[in-house]
Order: sequence, then structure tokens, then C-alpha cells
Amino acid sequence: MIRNFVDGEFAEPDGRCWQKISPVDGSVRADVHEADRDLVERAVAAARAALDGAWGRTTVPQRTALLRRAADLLEERYEEFVAAESADTGKPLQQARDLDVSRAVANFRSFADTVAAAGLPSYLTELPDGRRALNYAARKPLGVVAVIVPWNLPLLLLTWKVAPALACGNAVVVKPSEETPSTAVLLAEVLRDAGLPAGAYNVVHGFGPGSAGQFLVESRGIDGVTFTGSSATGASIMAAVAPRVRPVSFELGGKNPAVVFADADLDSAIDGLTRSVFANTGQVCLCTERLYVQRPVFDEVAERLAERARGLRLGRPDDPETTTGPLISQEHRDKVLRYYRLAEELGAKTLVGGGVPSMPGDLAGGSWIEPALWTGLTNADVQLREEIFGPCAALIPFDTEDEAVALANDTEYGLAASVWTTDLSRGHRVAQRMRVGMAWVNTWFLRDLRSPFGGVGLSGIGREGGDHSLDFYTQPTNVCVQL
Ligand code: NAD
Repeated sequence: MIRNFVDGEFAEPDGRCWQKISPVDGSVRADVHEADRDLVERAVAAARAALDGAWGRTTVPQRTALLRRAADLLEERYEEFVAAESADTGKPLQQARDLDVSRAVANFRSFADTVAAAGLPSYLTELPDGRRALNYAARKPLGVVAVIVPWNLPLLLLTWKVAPALACGNAVVVKPSEETPSTAVLLAEVLRDAGLPAGAYNVVHGFGPGSAGQFLVESRGIDGVTFTGSSATGASIMAAVAPRVRPVSFELGGKNPAVVFADADLDSAIDGLTRSVFANTGQVCLCTERLYVQRPVFDEVAERLAERARGLRLGRPDDPETTTGPLISQEHRDKVLRYYRLAEELGAKTLVGGGVPSMPGDLAGGSWIEPALWTGLTNADVQLREEIFGPCAALIPFDTEDEAVALANDTEYGLAASVWTTDLSRGHRVAQRMRVGMAWVNTWFLRDLRSPFGGVGLSGIGREGGDHSLDFYTQPTNVCVQL
């Protein structure tokens, strides 16, 4: 049984639970205890009490030391976290090792560094009448922060929010995805063992509407919501907190373009595009689903990318040859397959895959899917307008730089873009013209944790990362002293 963690203790299950299904073979992985509204309110009250108690009186050096201890303890239990993350998501163990858990460790260390170095400017005010005053701002924690995260990179995205929230002295109530409840609970043990007082980190399990997610954002006791997930859920959360005017930080969906110019280093572009389309079975908010390729190299890019897609190895997470896991659930696979089928109906040419693979033995019960690449679609088609969140992309040719920029920006989303060119000026120029929060040139998903992360339009509100996170997780109080 995977349990809720409230006020420093695992809550005794009281009947309501659901079964977490393995995406690898469809077997029951665990029962998960669903938090009711009462338990969610108890978690929020415990967080408030922690803020009013010893946790609220901690100093920055004490909190940075705690974050570093948490990173060390996470490393000591590294393989346990890897196994849990892989079992919930079906992703290859090696990927959980190299990306998910390693980034979680880095999140704690990086935000310990950031908060230790943080400061705010002070101002000496000099008025015409001769009065002078000193203005300085003290950073206070935002308060009780609701942290709601999705299933695609569960621990990475959770710690991306929990580490800065705790570094700034907040108390958190975490609602992991119903698909990936495990690592948030392991993290509770790590934080407790690192010395975090009871109530500063709470976990409530459940779904969105009518369940723990909704109960949490409706609670009068929360001071803000940091959320990563779909744009539609972000809109619901915004509406739920609007009557109480709480701040939100939203990292939402993407429909990310890649723009490949004919002068690109195609070897490196194909490597990068393969990762950006198919990483984590296409289930990364930053993944490329729209690929604009300059006409002289269009056929070559399409063929070479299709070849790389054919080389992906679907298989068990513990098989070192496996490159690609299943989708998170049968429900999500049904959604992705609807886009696949509709592409055929629209007359797209499917260059590779596009169906359900036949998997051996018990794997036949998992939510496996083939990658898909299409040509022959246009920006008006649903495959280029809606986030699919699967291992697929549509390729569209372009002739001029202006046309490429117009095509890439023709979307309601605005999370990330990548530009592939050996022309230095063009790389900068086009990257800056992308209407996104993050643009890469000749790379993808290369991240410095101090740089701003977030999107525009349907892709989100606000930026997190380094000092940008501190802007959300703290409230500056200005003090003006007449001299
Ligand atoms: P989702 O929006 O369905 O769910 C995310 C979380 O919100 C889950 O924990 C869910 O239980 C909860 N939730 C759902 N409805 C809620 C409600 N009404 N009130 C409160 N909580 C609610 O998203 P998902 O399917 O879990 O994840 C995939 C989505 O996440 C994709 O759209 C992807 O682009 C996005 N994502 C964005 C980023 C980013 O940084 N921009 C990163 C990863 C994933």
C-alpha cells in the first residue's frame, strides 16, 4: 500500500484506494491510498503549523545544510529511487538513473547554492525636501505551497519545486500524479531523515477533479500553487484559486517546433532531433512534435529520422538494450492512437510505425506504441495544433527564414523551440524570434538549473529556475527607514 504522508507520519489507510497499473505489462503494481478532503485539510494545517513553529524560524544556512543532506541521502538510496520511478512509469532503468534521479539530486544542491547566494537590492531615497531614507526588502516565504505535478518525469519535476520551496522556508503539500505515487513517498522518508521537521513536507495522493487535487487547490489554507501539467488543468486550477487571489506558477503543455535549415550539421541535427522527438516515448513537455525542414534537405532529414525511429528498441526497463518504454497508461495510448489514425484519414504519409507493436509474453499487456513520423500534413491539422505527448512528429518543408519563423510561431503554445543551423547569426536571430520561453540552437534539453524555465501562451505563467524560483517562492517585504 502506498500511503499519504501528513505531519511527519504515514497516515493509516481508511478504505479508499486505487490500483496503480504497470504500463509495462498491465499488472497491478500497488494499491494507493486516496486522500479525502479531510486528510488534505489536515496536511494543509500541518504545513501551517510547521511554518508557525520551528521550521518557520530556521535560517538560510540551516536550510541549505538540510537540502544538501537530503541530496546525500537521495544518493545513498539512488537505486531504490531508480527502481520505483521505472516501475511507475515503465521507463528504462538507465534513463531513470541518468536523468530523473540524477536531476533530483542536482535540484537539491542547485537550490541550496541559489538561496545561499540570494540577495535583494537596497535603495537610498533622497527627496527634494532633503529627507533621506533607506529602503531594503526582506524575503519571507510565500507560506503553504500546494505542489501538483504530472507523471512523465515525476521525481525530477517534484524536486524542481520542492527544493526551492523548502530552501526559501515554505511548507509544502504535494499532490503527485495518480500514475506515479511512489517517489514522492520515498522522498518523504529522505527529507525526514535529513532532519526536516514534521509538517514541512506532506504528500496527499489522489486524482484531479473530485479528489485530492481539487481539494488541495480549493483549500483556504494554501498561499499559492505551483503546478506542472496540462494547459487545461492549469486553467481549472487558476479558476479554483481565483476567488482567493492566490499566486500561481504554471509549467504547462507544449507543441514545440524544431526548425532545420539546409546549412545545419545534419549528423548532429539528426541526433538531436531523434532525442527531441522520441525521448521518454515523446512524453516530455519539451519534446518536438512539429518539425520544419528547409526544402533542400527535407527528404534527407525525413529518411534519416525515420531510420533512427526504426532503430529504437522497445522493451523491458531492465534490458540495457531498451531505448524506449511504453506510454504511461492504456488511456493515454488510446489518446495518442486517435491522432495516429486521424493522420491516416487526413491522407498523411506515415514514414514509420504508427501502430501498436506486437510485444512478446507478458509485455503484451502493456501500453506499448510504435513511434510515428508523418509528412503531408499542414499547420491547420490537429496533429500540429494539439499536444499529443507521444513518440511522434509531423515534418513540413519551408523555403525561407521568415516562413519558418511564421510556421513555428503559428501555435497557441509557447514552451520551447530548437533551431538547427551552422550560420551563427541566423541561429541567434531565429532563436530570438521564436515565441517561446526557451529556445535552443543546435541542441535540445541542455539545461542550466539557474536559467529561466517556463513558457508563454498556453504553455504557462511565470518562470522557475535559480533566482526566478525565489521570485515565486518568496514574498519580499519592503522596509523604509527615514534617516
Ligand atoms: P494533468 O494536467 O492531467 O495532471 C497533472 C497533475 O494535476 C496530476 O497530479 C493530476 O492529478 C492533477 N490534476 C488534474 N486535474 C486537476 C484539478 N482539476 N485540480 C487539481 N489538480 C488536478 O497532466 P498529466 O497528464 O499528468 O501530464 C502531462 C502534461 O503535463 C502534458 O500536457 C505536459 O506537457 C505537461 N508537462 C509540462 C511540463 C512543463 O514544464 N511545462 C513538464 C512536464 C509535463
